[in-house]
Amino acid sequence: MGRLAPAYREGRRMICPRCGSDTRVIETREVEGKPVIRRRRRCAEGHRFDTYESREKPTHLVERPPGYQAALMRKRRAQDRERDQRDRLREIARQEHKQTGEPLEQVYARFGVA
Ligand SMILES: [Zn+2]
Repeated sequence: MGRLAPAYREGRRMICPRCGSDTRVIETREVEGKPVIRRRRRCAEGHRFDTYESREKPTHLVERPPGYQAALMRKRRAQDRERDQRDRLREIARQEHKQTGEPLEQVYARFGVA
């Protein structure tokens, strides 16, 4: 096996057990009667294998108060909007920096996105 791709070193990839190359999920199925997901994977060389995904500790699920999930989603959407807004402002700031030559950090600070 050659060097591992950076994504695999970070633990985000399931590599082929036969050739070690990166794989893609080609099919995801529930396993009948079990809280398990089966994923059929295929590597660039065409080798196929299955992986199974299940909860680690079903008895340790944390009880969340009603509305918790909805509140969490609202919070994440708000964070996404803030990030998008900041990205847009930074893009405008970069254009202004290019046009005026004003130091970028200074423009960022003026836009409140330092
Ligand atoms: Zn393979």
